[in-house]
Amino acid sequence: MKRRRKTRKVRIGNIEVGGSAPISVQSMTKSDIRAVQSTLNEIRKLKRAGCEIVRVAVKDRDSVDAFRRVAEKSELPVVADIHFIPRLALETIEAGASAVRLNPGNIKKAEDLKGIIKRAREKRIPVRVGVNSGSLSARSSNTADDMVKSALDYIKIFEKNRFYDIIISLKSSDVSETVSAYRKMAGLCDYPFHIGVTAAGPLLSATVKSSIGIGTLLEEGIGDTVRVSLTGDSLTEVEIAREILSALKLRQFAPEVISCPTCGRCEIDLKGITEDFLKRIKGMRFDGARSKLKIAIMGCVVNGPGEAKDADIGIAGGKNSGVLFRKGKKIRTLKQEEFIDVLISEIKNVKD
Ligand code: SF4
Repeated sequence: MKRRRKTRKVRIGNIEVGGSAPISVQSMTKSDIRAVQSTLNEIRKLKRAGCEIVRVAVKDRDSVDAFRRVAEKSELPVVADIHFIPRLALETIEAGASAVRLNPGNIKKAEDLKGIIKRAREKRIPVRVGVNSGSLSARSSNTADDMVKSALDYIKIFEKNRFYDIIISLKSSDVSETVSAYRKMAGLCDYPFHIGVTAAGPLLSATVKSSIGIGTLLEEGIGDTVRVSLTGDSLTEVEIAREILSALKLRQFAPEVISCPTCGRCEIDLKGITEDFLKRIKGMRFDGARSKLKIAIMGCVVNGPGEAKDADIGIAGGKNSGVLFRKGKKIRTLKQEEFIDVLISEIKNVKD
């Protein structure tokens, strides 16, 4: 992995973005903000799932009062997502937004931006310049270049007004275009990046596209906050984003679980055991050494003992049974029914 790109640091509520701050996970609520309680409930669940910043769509002036009530009670810093109507940016800033997202494709006038910049500076909140390939006002044969140009032109207006608390995103539904745009932009400024592949589709394609797009960028040291875009549950967006960060060892939220794909040699219910184990540890809090554990649950003696020995805690399956390993040392033989309880108590016994 390349060294992380050096960027300025900005602050969205209590979360730092860029610089040496941990790469944060964010999502967007799916509820209509006018349903204040549903939105707050969704935010609470998002927080529990590990989300650190939440964005909400504010589409008209009727939604501003609801936004104010959400921002007041939200357990996460709230970013107002604004399109088309500059006045909404001003009103949501007044109403307690921790940041605003503006789209250069639909809020364009320097005059409009001047007022937003003034209030954002006074309230000390950042602005995300959120370019989307789908709303570019000018398109050539190179969408990545168009996205970069759109962001650069926009940022110039901010810089002319001596405003630098900027976060940039350059999203396309095409993975290569997205990666290429961020790579180019990375060499042209030091603003932190919000990264993601937009409109990535339902679960399977969103997971694959986001993992490749976000994963490639992060591997190159590019990216300061992550949003997985999914036609589906916002909590799943957070789960996938956290998995991407964990897979790259950029952040570790819970033990890493390794399990084999199973084959005709397997004589335990490895799929059921692994799924149940993951469900059991999902609600647990992991700090320090426990969050860095590697746990292997393997189907048989071919690769099982090797993987199980390499892990901090491992089980190599046999016939309705398995051998427990701790730090490479064989501990004892277990019945299949004991696996999950034993793994949990092994985790609990690890000292922080
Ligand atoms: Fe098959 Fe054993 Fe390999 Fe699992 S560890 S895939 S059961 S050979």
